[in-house]
Amino acid sequence: DNQQNRTQGAAGTTDAQKAPQLQLKDIHKEFNGNTVLSDISLDVNAGEVVAFIGPSGAGKSTLLRCVNYLETPSSGELLIDGKPTVKIASKPTRNELMNLRRQVGMVFQSFNLFPHISVLRNVALPQERVLGRSRKEAEERAMELLTRVGLGDKADARPSKCSGGQQQRIAIARALALDPEIMLFDEPTSALDPELGGEVLAVMQELAATGMTMLVVTHEMSFARRVSDRTVFMADGRIVEQGAPEQVFGAPREARTKKFLEAVL
Ligand code: ADP
Ligand code: MG
Repeated sequence: DNQQNRTQGAAGTTDAQKAPQLQLKDIHKEFNGNTVLSDISLDVNAGEVVAFIGPSGAGKSTLLRCVNYLETPSSGELLIDGKPTVKIASKPTRNELMNLRRQVGMVFQSFNLFPHISVLRNVALPQERVLGRSRKEAEERAMELLTRVGLGDKADARPSKCSGGQQQRIAIARALALDPEIMLFDEPTSALDPELGGEVLAVMQELAATGMTMLVVTHEMSFARRVSDRTVFMADGRIVEQGAPEQVFGAPREARTKKFLEAVL
């Protein structure tokens, strides 16, 4: 390995560039003395799609929220490209948070679009605010992304004129417009009818095919099985087991996983 490091070093790359894109090290989280995440460690490589499944209350959302610091981990370390993102357990600086949220985009169950501005402006505005893009540049990029998620024709409409599935695709375009390295999805289809959820899952599958690194909390077992490179089963604030989806779904090793899958499949 050292040999390899030296060779690559000579070619001008650094150790940091070879590190997993995202590293969670012993992430621990308590709410009022209750442990919700017990020392979770996980490495995610660039381009990997990791699906998180497990019962309600397992800590899946909290884990995802810790990754971009919507929740403050009680202890542990978070690294992106081998570099610490924020100093956990000390208050992160505004700059640290801005950088982190630029690198890591997130899509939630609720879309939270601004109702009083157009779909196009919804996707352009964060680019202007966060990245300092000109209005023209931001709107061009917004149009490109809306087209990519199949909604170019909705650019001038208000979000309320769009279906739930369309609104969620707009939320995905809005997150992608900030050029994140990593995308987090927390049950993005759980508020949608199956049909509308399907169009959101299709957009996510296309995104996965472009090589985006994705962490996806989902109750859509078929999506996890079909699209993820790795499926992580969580319960009681721990990773119970993880592996290739064929293994986790087809031949789960842990009784806890089997029981969960029998109940949901
Ligand atoms: P999941 O997404 O797997 O359903 P969550 O991460 O939402 O699980 O929740 C894990 C546990 O943490 C649950 O017991 C939940 O009640 C608790 N929890 C989540 N958020 C908070 C909070 N802000 N304050 C207190 N407890 C919370
Ligand atoms: Mg959740």
